[in-house]
Amino acid sequence: MAILPILVYGDPRLEAANQPVEDFGEELQSLIEDLFETGWEAPGLGLAAPQVGINLRIATVDLSVGKDPEARVVLANPEIIFCRGKASLEEGCLSFPGLFTTIERPTALRVRAQDNGGRWREFEAEGLLAQTVCHEVDHLNGVLIVHHLRSMKRRLFMRRVEKMRKLGVWQSTA
Ligand SMILES: [Zn+2]
Repeated sequence: MAILPILVYGDPRLEAANQPVEDFGEELQSLIEDLFETGWEAPGLGLAAPQVGINLRIATVDLSVGKDPEARVVLANPEIIFCRGKASLEEGCLSFPGLFTTIERPTALRVRAQDNGGRWREFEAEGLLAQTVCHEVDHLNGVLIVHHLRSMKRRLFMRRVEKMRKLGVWQSTA
């Protein structure tokens, strides 16, 4: 297992197309371990492969941040089947370190994804899990939190991004 450098906003790999996962062999297993470990270290609730520079449709979610092995979710080739409800929720992203904003998210959803062994699973998620799954699926579609913001809110957020950059807080370790 290894802790991988997390890319910050501005790196083109965060917005590039992600290829479907086809090979569930050893290389993928070690990537999954690394995504979990990197997420726990950050710490964050989830991490998508493009955030560590690998443009594959895979992400990990662990709301327990390493405390509960049962809480670990692998999302390979995920698809959101339906969404229910709407809520404005505070959200951050490891690729925008130190910044938070509010985004409208569904309160519940149903997702279909392959697990670490390539088996298709379908499950429903609510609340924080639904929000985190949406966030990670967004990453796999090249969508970042800033893309959800419109007009004034987006300009204000981008001003904070520029400030972080100028202060040198955001130094990509990659
Ligand atoms: Zn993120």
